[in-house]
Amino acid sequence: MTDKTYDIIIVGAGIVGATLARELSAYALEIAVIDKAADIPSGASRANSAMIHAGYDDKPGSIKADFCAPGNRLYQELAGPLDITLRKCGSYVCGFDAKDLKHLEKLLDQGKRNGVPGVEIITGDALRAKEPHVSAEIAHALWAPSGCIVNNFEAVLAFMDNAQQNGVELFLETEIQDIVLSDDRKEVLGIRTNRGFMRTSVVINAAGINSDLVAKMAGDDSFSIEPTRGEYYIMDKNVGNLVGSFFFPCPTDKGKGITVAPTAENNLLIGPTSVVQESRDDTSTSVDGLKEVVDGARLLVPAIPLGMAITTFSGLRASASTKDFVLGVLDTPRG
Ligand SMILES: Cc1cc2nc3c(=O)[nH]c(=O)nc-3n(C[C@H](O)[C@H](O)[C@H](O)COP(=O)(O)OP(=O)(O)OC[C@H]3O[C@@H](n4cnc5c(N)ncnc54)[C@H](O)[C@@H]3O)c2cc1C
Repeated sequence: MTDKTYDIIIVGAGIVGATLARELSAYALEIAVIDKAADIPSGASRANSAMIHAGYDDKPGSIKADFCAPGNRLYQELAGPLDITLRKCGSYVCGFDAKDLKHLEKLLDQGKRNGVPGVEIITGDALRAKEPHVSAEIAHALWAPSGCIVNNFEAVLAFMDNAQQNGVELFLETEIQDIVLSDDRKEVLGIRTNRGFMRTSVVINAAGINSDLVAKMAGDDSFSIEPTRGEYYIMDKNVGNLVGSFFFPCPTDKGKGITVAPTAENNLLIGPTSVVQESRDDTSTSVDGLKEVVDGARLLVPAIPLGMAITTFSGLRASASTKDFVLGVLDTPRG
């Protein structure tokens, strides 16, 4: 498809591929980004809650914990120059009883250890003085002022646009089929795609839900991905100001739980569910899933106006078997 030799090929143009491409475009390198989709963002970066988390959720010492709070600060710095809609609206994790309060205290401790600014526990009454529509049953809440809402479409496009302005080439509808290695399997020679061979000595795997499959092409089977579906409702802008921040229940083993939040465009978002599935591309919604969304959201904000729903959607999380971000460089093959 091209005779060019690239220094680096990034597989996947979601938020990870796009931000990496922009960062690397500051160096004198020939860089290509490929994505199997016809348009970006297409994977999880297209369909999510669009929250820039504060960083209290992650276990101290994990890669997520190391990246979340600094990433939050970096997003706030870059949003202006890159013209990305971002609002620092803060987030609350809500507790209903003594058991939940213990959980909030654990999150508070994690937040402090992870360097999250301004995190504190407030009473339900103090919360309702600021947010009158939340449940009267909420006894305490963890407040994290640095949580932000972002326009996730704009973010991916802005990072990728900037990378392209700096010379990065983007190839859409280009799916990696294999990583071609030298006979001794020590060096990367390039990648085989549906559109032909592309020569490079370095491949960066940012393929989201398919990242385990791409890793296997280089002989790395150290992790696997479990597709986990999250379903949502979006409500009309007329009710976009029902809450001014992100509201979460206490997290469980299944994740952060069903949130009620404004969107960057001033709609109201409720969801997501968290259901493991086989398919890596089925993003349909279901009657049961959407019922779970409404029931979960009404625990936090009882007056959720279902009649104001304008659409539903779902996204697929790439839940890694390592329970953390997967980040690293292979020794063999090098690159
Ligand atoms: C329901 C839900 C809610 C979430 N909420 C939040 C949130 O509020 N805040 C937050 O920080 N995170 C959230 N996340 C997680 C966040 O969306 C992801 O961590 C992030 O989008 C992952 O970005 P990515 O670039 O790794 O993957 P993706 O955005 O999935 O990008 C991967 C890209 O690789 C391409 N690709 C895949 N296979 C191939 C192949 N074989 N060849 C070529 N290209 C390929 C895909 O087309 C895709 O464009 C949520 C996720 C979900 C699903």
